[in-house]
Amino acid sequence: MNREPSPPVIIAIDGTSGSGKSTVARLLAKLLDYGHVDTGSMYRAITWRVLKEGIDPKDTPQVVTLLKRLRYECEFARDEQGIRRLRNLLDGNDPGLAIRAAEVEKAVSAVSAIPEIRHFLVGKQRELVRFGNLVVEGRDIGTVVFPNTPHKFYLDADPAVRASRRAADPSQIAANAQAKNGAPMQLQDVSRAIAERDKLDSTRAVAPLKMAGDATRVDTSAHDAQGVAELILREIRNRAAQ
Ligand code: C5P
Repeated sequence: MNREPSPPVIIAIDGTSGSGKSTVARLLAKLLDYGHVDTGSMYRAITWRVLKEGIDPKDTPQVVTLLKRLRYECEFARDEQGIRRLRNLLDGNDPGLAIRAAEVEKAVSAVSAIPEIRHFLVGKQRELVRFGNLVVEGRDIGTVVFPNTPHKFYLDADPAVRASRRAADPSQIAANAQAKNGAPMQLQDVSRAIAERDKLDSTRAVAPLKMAGDATRVDTSAHDAQGVAELILREIRNRAAQ
């Protein structure tokens, strides 16, 4: 008897900036040997290119014109920790750490609010199931990208905890040091930038940041990434056993 192959498992991790979702998503991908998809990196990669071309991120027609002529490819590569991570190639180039720089941070919410950009990237994200089981992190994974997955988690934490996590994030520190005029980051600036991004992301017209009705909310303020990842794995296994 021929058995249908089971569809890929998708674990959706949504949440606010600095909620710990990236660290938790990477840990889960490592523990399960799933692909890790940081969808924020996709919005950041396009924003980086918009800025590189001197386009105003709020100039929707120009951003859309750029999108149309861009060759955007996704691939997975194992990183130094053995995690299969998504790489974004724009006309064959991976922008790397540059997508974490403060200028990109400031402009990304405007670019990600453009419906054509969202439509394009959501399509790309859905296509990634061809690579197998995935941990996908973002803002609209449980609500828009993979609404049918039963494994939806929404991470949040106190604003002060989120700001200090962001400020201590090594890739953020390295990206700012690499930027031409990269002065050291001040906690109050990080805090202000997070609050601004939360506001823009949760009030935009298309796919605003919000928790899916059937997602499990996890407050990560008092837990480290390992604790949160274990809680999520327990939840998934309990559900499978029911
Ligand atoms: O997750 P990260 O902070 O890197 O995301 C950067 C930005 O990309 C967010 O502030 C948001 O504007 C956008 N984003 C989004 N939808 C996603 C992931 C990220 O709009 N699924």
